[in-house]
Amino acid sequence: MPEPTVTDDVAVAIADGVERWANDRVQPLALDHAHKMDPALIEEMAEMGLFGLVLPEAYGGSGLGLAAAATVIERLARRDRSVATTLGLHLGLGTRGLVRWGTPEQHERLIPRLASGKALAAFATTEPDAGSDLTALRTTIEAHPEGISVRGTKIYVTNGGLATIFTISGRSPGLGGARKGQSLMLLEKGDKGLEVGAEEGKLGLRASSTTTLNLDDMVVGADRILGAPGTGADMLRHILAWGRTVMAAGCVGTAVAAYTATRRHTAERVQFGKSLDKLAVVREQLADMAALIYAARALVDQTTADEENLEVPSLSAKVFASECSGEVCDLAIQLHGGAGYIEETGIPLMLRDTRITRIFEGANDVLRIHRGLFAVVAEAPPAADGSASAASVAARKVRAEAFRATQNAKDRLGIRLAGDHPTLHQLGARAILADAAEAAARRADREGNETSAALALRWAEMAASRIAAIDAREPAKLQSERCMEWSP
Ligand SMILES: Cc1cc2nc3c(=O)[nH]c(=O)nc-3n(C[C@H](O)[C@H](O)[C@H](O)COP(=O)(O)OP(=O)(O)OC[C@H]3O[C@@H](n4cnc5c(N)ncnc54)[C@H](O)[C@@H]3O)c2cc1C
Repeated sequence: MPEPTVTDDVAVAIADGVERWANDRVQPLALDHAHKMDPALIEEMAEMGLFGLVLPEAYGGSGLGLAAAATVIERLARRDRSVATTLGLHLGLGTRGLVRWGTPEQHERLIPRLASGKALAAFATTEPDAGSDLTALRTTIEAHPEGISVRGTKIYVTNGGLATIFTISGRSPGLGGARKGQSLMLLEKGDKGLEVGAEEGKLGLRASSTTTLNLDDMVVGADRILGAPGTGADMLRHILAWGRTVMAAGCVGTAVAAYTATRRHTAERVQFGKSLDKLAVVREQLADMAALIYAARALVDQTTADEENLEVPSLSAKVFASECSGEVCDLAIQLHGGAGYIEETGIPLMLRDTRITRIFEGANDVLRIHRGLFAVVAEAPPAADGSASAASVAARKVRAEAFRATQNAKDRLGIRLAGDHPTLHQLGARAILADAAEAAARRADREGNETSAALALRWAEMAASRIAAIDAREPAKLQSERCMEWSP
């Protein structure tokens, strides 16, 4: 298992500067009320070189890797999630395909503008009839006597109203000799037939641009195809894994911000003659928040440490970090009491902003099914010769439980397991809890201090109790069909 590279001095120094800048310049509530990104903030981020962070040095970028992007996005998200999403989408889904599969000509033409921040990137795959099911795309990419024709409608495009360069996906029957398959295209604002729709009104991330994208009988040159025609689905898997990881780092940032505000509030607020953080139940809740964040950061760092092996770790990092941020923000509201419900405290905005992360870049329940499938195919039992630390021993027990459940399901269902989504969903849930417990234990072993050991152990114990709760809800016992007959 490669060591996380997130402590890389360059990335941390950049992230420190970014956090200082954000605290000074970004006003989250004002952006939320304005419902749009402040162009001055984009300009200032461009001046800091942030849009080129992970783009190749040969074309004006900084050539840093996923760990650097995750570190910067986490710090930015501590201040404001809309700003972090605008940059994160550009560094993740928006430019990843171009960097990895673009031709030298495409790099030369597009990356200098993207690296300088003169052009922002967007990524459009979701359609009205293709959300979680990306095999249902209706956008077509077809050969045309003058190049390639593109026709379709994309929805919920982050950065849609700001971007000039769009990576889009579509069905491409016949293209490149493949009878079926999907392809990716690089389109530009100003291309004839490309039309950006109005901004959506949203629950959160209100200063992040989200629009439709109409691709109306476009004809563009064949040089706009990204990568090999017909291999779009494979490219999407990598792009989504990279983007999910950047997004998971943003979730850690929001959770850190909510926790920090809650520590401050519970230290200052006096009830029953003492500060809230001296009350036993509150202390338990604060400790749970800390353990969740510790495990989520460990999982994200572990994921970014191995860029060539992102698919499975990024599923766990995305699901776990998004749920961690939701849980931590919810507890933050609870522990702020009535003040937690008042917009001026900034806590409701954190909860609103982070809610979408359980849905976009793969709905968590769909990703749990994917993680469950990987568990069925390749889950290994816990290593017998691992570390003897209490957290590692507890994490191995969690993995053993997840492994046992997977083996039982395989024995019980055999080949039928492949189509049994409720069971795969539960197996995926267990595997993700185990992934987080192992990552936290490894992090604690590496850090080698008592606080880290306590956090990792606490999370392993929380994970064990969550696995027990899943065990108690076996799909076969739940009478779903009967329950759904009821109309309230
Ligand atoms: C603010 C915002 C920004 C976005 N940005 C982008 C972007 O930049 N680019 C882009 O391409 N897309 C983007 N999206 C789209 C986003 O990725 C999709 O909304 C998401 O993938 C879910 O698709 P859907 O909305 O069609 O939900 P559906 O697929 O209709 O699913 C609805 C719900 O049903 C459940 N569900 C569906 N299938 C299953 C299953 N097999 N098993 C269990 N449960 C299931 C899940 O709970 C899911 O949340 C964005 C969306 C929003 C709201």
